[in-house]
Amino acid sequence: MNIQSKIASNVHVDFDGPYRMSVGGDLVGADQTFDVYNPATGAVVANAPEASREQVDAAIAAAKAAQPGWAGLSWEARSAYIAAYADALDAHKEELITLLTTEQGKPRHSMATVEVDYAIYWVREVAKRRLEDEVLEDTDEHTVRVAHTPLGVVGAITPWNFPVLLGLWKIAPCLITGNTIIMKPSPYTPLGTLRFGEIAQKILPPGVLNIVSGGNAQGAWITEHPDVSKISFTGSTATGRKVMAASSGNLKRITLELGGNDPAIVLPGTDYKPLIPTLFDAAFGNSGQWCIAIKRLYVHDTLYDDFLSDFVDYTAEKTVGDGMDPNTDLGPIQNTMQYGKLLDLFADVKAKGYAVPLGGEIDEARPGNFVPITIVDNPPKDSRIVREEPFGPILPVLRFSDVDAVIADANDTEFGLGASVWGPDREEAVSVANRIEAGTVWVNEIHIHGIDIPFGGHKQSGMGVENGKEGLQEFTNTKTYMVKK
Ligand code: NAD
Repeated sequence: MNIQSKIASNVHVDFDGPYRMSVGGDLVGADQTFDVYNPATGAVVANAPEASREQVDAAIAAAKAAQPGWAGLSWEARSAYIAAYADALDAHKEELITLLTTEQGKPRHSMATVEVDYAIYWVREVAKRRLEDEVLEDTDEHTVRVAHTPLGVVGAITPWNFPVLLGLWKIAPCLITGNTIIMKPSPYTPLGTLRFGEIAQKILPPGVLNIVSGGNAQGAWITEHPDVSKISFTGSTATGRKVMAASSGNLKRITLELGGNDPAIVLPGTDYKPLIPTLFDAAFGNSGQWCIAIKRLYVHDTLYDDFLSDFVDYTAEKTVGDGMDPNTDLGPIQNTMQYGKLLDLFADVKAKGYAVPLGGEIDEARPGNFVPITIVDNPPKDSRIVREEPFGPILPVLRFSDVDAVIADANDTEFGLGASVWGPDREEAVSVANRIEAGTVWVNEIHIHGIDIPFGGHKQSGMGVENGKEGLQEFTNTKTYMVKK
């Protein structure tokens, strides 16, 4: 059978049409809907369907029914479908970028374009990956072969900070390994996911990719469901704990990508001036709403005063505004819940009297969820701004003089997602990196990701990994064959 001839090409989805969920190949609304807001204006962008429990069950049943047929296809056939999906996403790229800015807030000309481009690239590249069988023994007596078989139905739950990228990061590896999927995006940013679900229905066999929208209850229904074999979850550590508990009923496999409080350590002698734009982007990109944003910036005493002054000068030039404006550097906070958390954190910084050389006052009269870029000068290490994940454009810069002590401070957290070390002597910087408790430590570079590079958190930043061979394997069972000769 020639699979290519069966796969639709030149598909078109009307982005002006109503938002519908994808259930068993059908596009469906719901009896209840909820509003989705533009965080730059507060205006309602659209209504999204609020899936009923019956609809969630129907989507899981459809995924279960479709799974054997999907798994029965060759890797090449599944790959051809996923590559066609990447092409169709590419054909709708501009609409996806505009929608992302409209519902999420990130600047259209920079972060939103990067997110959608990167997501499509990821789908296309993951389609080319394979998990080959491995022969461990081949003696005169027997052979031992390890294979990877699909798990079945995967439940995927995503957050609101990178809804397109994080959604497609789950879909592509899930499908290439022979599983089917039910995905639930965040209620704050469901629209792009509903659209890329709609695009998928024109290409993939019915039931292979199902999307339901709704609030936290819909996520819980998926995590409790006995016909779901794995949960791939990205979100907060608090919700990750609930997902883990709910998944125990049928011992679901779980991959949890959770929160972070990433330290960056600038060692003595670092030529920091050329690094300032990179450090700015790494701390404040996506308005700090980034699991692996630099959230604590430790700078050696010998550099601290000059660094802080130069960093503040550079940062003061940046603009916070509507992401549709090409002059905007950083967009708004994505939702009023997170905006409220930041109001509270800013109030704490003010009440405690910490030095704030930039920003510090949120103008609540300004329409939209706008928060000024804020730098806090050397707050105490037990302050909330150091201990908590702010998830906003506010950064503590911290002075250190002793490398052993700064490593201890960097590790003194429940989180262990990412970290970075910056220094003139690569070996010394790597020796510091060796002692940092985190899933990824970058040295003299930051935020490099790759299809073949596993990514995940230590400690309470998560469980398991995404990406890389290891990430693909997490969508499979390991099956060992021993055959006597
Ligand atoms: P969140 O945990 O509030 O929500 C994430 C998703 O979980 C949403 O779709 C939500 O509806 C759903 N959900 C809520 N309660 C649930 C339940 N009981 N059962 C099942 N699903 C449920 O997180 P958020 O506020 O959307 O995202 C921000 C957090 O995500 C931050 O902590 C950030 O660090 C983290 N994050 C981590 C990564 C990573 O790769 N490690 C990437 C992005 C974001």
